Amino acid sequence: MGGTTEVDESMLTGESRPQFKQKNDHVFGGTINRHASIFVKCTKVPGETTSDMIYQLVEQTQMTKANIENVTDRVAKIFVPVIVATAVAVFLIWIVLSSTGIVVADPSAFPFSLNFALAVLIVSCPCAVGLAVPTATMVGTGVAAKRGILFKGSQIIESLSKARTFCFDKTGTLTTGELTVAQIIALGSEVTREDLLFFAVSIERGSNHPIARAVLSYAESQSISSVEPKKAQVKPGLGVVGVVNGRTVQLGNSECLSNTSQAALDVHREQIDRWQQQGATVIYLTLDEELSGVLVLTDTLKPTAEATIKYLTRCGHEVWVISGDHPTTVRAIASQLNIPADRVLGGVLPRDKQNKIKELRTHGEVVMVGDGMNDGPALAAASVGVALGSTSSHLAQYAAGVVVLNDSLTSVLVAVDLAKRITGRIKLNLIWAFVYNALFIPLAAGALWVPFAFTIPPPFAGLSELVSSVPVVIFSLLLRTYKPPSF
Ligand code: ADP
Ligand code: MG
Repeated sequence: MGGTTEVDESMLTGESRPQFKQKNDHVFGGTINRHASIFVKCTKVPGETTSDMIYQLVEQTQMTKANIENVTDRVAKIFVPVIVATAVAVFLIWIVLSSTGIVVADPSAFPFSLNFALAVLIVSCPCAVGLAVPTATMVGTGVAAKRGILFKGSQIIESLSKARTFCFDKTGTLTTGELTVAQIIALGSEVTREDLLFFAVSIERGSNHPIARAVLSYAESQSISSVEPKKAQVKPGLGVVGVVNGRTVQLGNSECLSNTSQAALDVHREQIDRWQQQGATVIYLTLDEELSGVLVLTDTLKPTAEATIKYLTRCGHEVWVISGDHPTTVRAIASQLNIPADRVLGGVLPRDKQNKIKELRTHGEVVMVGDGMNDGPALAAASVGVALGSTSSHLAQYAAGVVVLNDSLTSVLVAVDLAKRITGRIKLNLIWAFVYNALFIPLAAGALWVPFAFTIPPPFAGLSELVSSVPVVIFSLLLRTYKPPSF
């Protein structure tokens, strides 16, 4: 977009404060421009917009079935034949008892016994069992969507409520991902800082990594233009490579450097270590495979990071940080959040992120929270992948089981809390349905006839739906009053 304004994005993110927007920011279809006129470039066609995605995901969740729902479906299926058999058995028992004179039938054995059998048929209610899961899921996913949290299936809600381990990506997830270029150092005399910035910004044109966004906005502030790179290729977790003005440019972490380039860095090693110990991200630019410059970028923790990690740790969850950035940088950021060094992994490629998640899953349900393309495999491998942020990559949103449309880490906690509430409500619904049937069917069958002459007359039995299904629907609807705890 062009211009500056404030946009109300609450329908997407649940955030009621208007969001400040300026040139090159994203605005979303369906949100409300509250302030000034802006120019907008449309990048999505109808059917692919963010709001379309929300509708599709909510619908998809409401259609899919959780394990517990499969169980209740099976119960509901055998419920009817079992009840018919019970009614026949009740009829036979009463007819035997009354015709042998053990109980006195009023007026005669046949209508007397038929009354009990009919009452059993009418009182029994498979609907309450069948409604328990879908009503709670439907109301719960709607409540979540209002807060910018999209669940992609009721199975996900079930897994999330049992989550044991939480893994976080660093850049863009624990940190704001709004990096700033703090230093540009030209190595050798061949290129100047301006040349370095020109090559860096040109090669990053095809990437939407937070580093690319930082380089782009820094170059703009320095009035450095860029050219379209050729054969540009993004290497997730490593960097970008391509040809700019006939020269092969590579920008990325030290894994991309040749042994000679590594050796050329030795003189700067101490300084680089110091930056990394402060949590800065250091990347290297090579021109025709020769190391030409170093870029130092600083990032800040999200304001919600500390509270989120503290809350998870207090609740006894295991918290990990798994990042592609240099291990020293990742440890520095993790230590600000009091995450022990043995739960911090740095310098991991997307595949290794995935392998770590698979390993952790052998101990219980694992939630992976990430934003980038590099997190895709890990998000898909986790019990529940959470794609966090309004600018999270499409691949992350596709691979994840939960999509959070705002940048707040506490949304992850809200998602977990809500998942627990939904599963809790499902359990309450099921308990109600079973207790109701276990109590009313024996009453209708005449369990209290002999001692108290008590029975449920069939006309009254017809009102039983009010006692069985209506409370289930009300319990589910009450989820609408959900307020997240303060974290
Ligand atoms: P994280 O796991 O912390 O989100 P990534 O896996 O996305 O980080 O990236 C890991 C590292 O790879 C970055 O710290 C950076 O050194 C390098 N890198 C990735 N993408 C780019 C890019 N577009 N430009 C420069 N470096 C990049
Ligand atoms: Mg990231």
